[in-house]
Amino acid sequence: MSGNTALKRDTRDSTRGEIIRERGQREVFCGLTGIVWLHRKIQDAFFLVVGSRTCAHLIQSAAGVMIFAEPRFATAIISERDLAGLADMNDELDREVEKLLARRPDIKLLFLVGSCPSEVIKLDLSRAAERLSGRFMPDVRVLNYSGSGIETTFTQGEDACLASLVPEMPASTSAEPELLVAGALADVVEDQFRTLFADLGIERVSFLPPQRSGELPAIGSNTRYLLAQPFLTDTARALEERGARRLDAPFPLGEEGTTAWLAAAAREWGVSDEVFERVTAPGRERARLALGRYQDELAGKRVFFFPDSQLEVPLARFLARELDMQLTEVGTPYLHREHLARELEWLPDDVQLSEGQDVDKQIDRCWAAEPDIVVCGLGLANPFEAQGITTKWSIELLFTPVHGYEQAGDCAELFARPLRRREALRI
Ligand code: SF4
Repeated sequence: MSGNTALKRDTRDSTRGEIIRERGQREVFCGLTGIVWLHRKIQDAFFLVVGSRTCAHLIQSAAGVMIFAEPRFATAIISERDLAGLADMNDELDREVEKLLARRPDIKLLFLVGSCPSEVIKLDLSRAAERLSGRFMPDVRVLNYSGSGIETTFTQGEDACLASLVPEMPASTSAEPELLVAGALADVVEDQFRTLFADLGIERVSFLPPQRSGELPAIGSNTRYLLAQPFLTDTARALEERGARRLDAPFPLGEEGTTAWLAAAAREWGVSDEVFERVTAPGRERARLALGRYQDELAGKRVFFFPDSQLEVPLARFLARELDMQLTEVGTPYLHREHLARELEWLPDDVQLSEGQDVDKQIDRCWAAEPDIVVCGLGLANPFEAQGITTKWSIELLFTPVHGYEQAGDCAELFARPLRRREALRI
């Protein structure tokens, strides 16, 4: 596939200035948050959080819009009696699950989601899941993962959930290479990618998570996978343990990222330059046109990222290269050098990267950097707004479809809107 500029890889050395590494106080949501988008994605799954009233409140307020449908998440509350070790939590949990499944025969996959309280009392949810699976299979499969906020950040909930699905994937017997896209994407984005892959001649494509639990894709040594999200460390490891091989690519954010992401698969499948150009040109053109509308508003604006969603590095690359925004500090909870290698090559050399957090120190650096917009979690956004700093909630980037050509403009809009609102308030 030589000769195609869109497909050429930037091989510039990714070594850069010193990265700030901090291990102080952090301001992040916990992994339970992922339930909000995961329960919409896997349509016959149910997420039972085994946690406290605080956990129930978090889920209820984060997903407060679910009043029209039967909810597909709930919390089995661990009471003070349980915390004091006075009750057998396992019996109570079994009873709760029994009641739930009797009432909801539509549930085919039940996740027991661990929390800080369940971890503190050392409730073994993997054994509980095994026991309950034994009892309710083949009608209902019961799995478990941790959404606890102890030493994690909120997108790790999705990583843990997807990693728990990998051992359940059937073994592939295919002699042909198969493409797996890992990471929850909005259905509309999934459909767009399916069409693009099909037009490129890549027919055997599946997505993790699937829309229905019975459609878990097969996996084996002929599986090549593309990460759609940068926070899937454990999922990637689990996929590789099953024989799959990762295709090295940046993430499909913006025109450039999407093109390079598709190109990684196209290279592997030996798609010709001509076909690649023909298939991707209309989407690239539409993305460029959409982004062009934001140039005047966003070019030159200074952006500061607090570590939260783990999408910070790909987003920063997109904002800098496709919208000419100026990066000050790009903070991320974890810097996965291997998965982010292509992204790091694309970041401007003078950007300050930081990994982890010591929130007070970082707030001081943020003030000093004088950004026009700060991307951060909800806990920091409100105080910043009150002090006149424009913010973007990083969690919105998980709730809003931002991947792919057709969503590039929407992604830019997420940053333009708060700047516009601030401007309107000034007038
Ligand atoms: S899992 Fe932990 S951090 Fe998350 S809501 Fe429950 S107690 Fe809070």
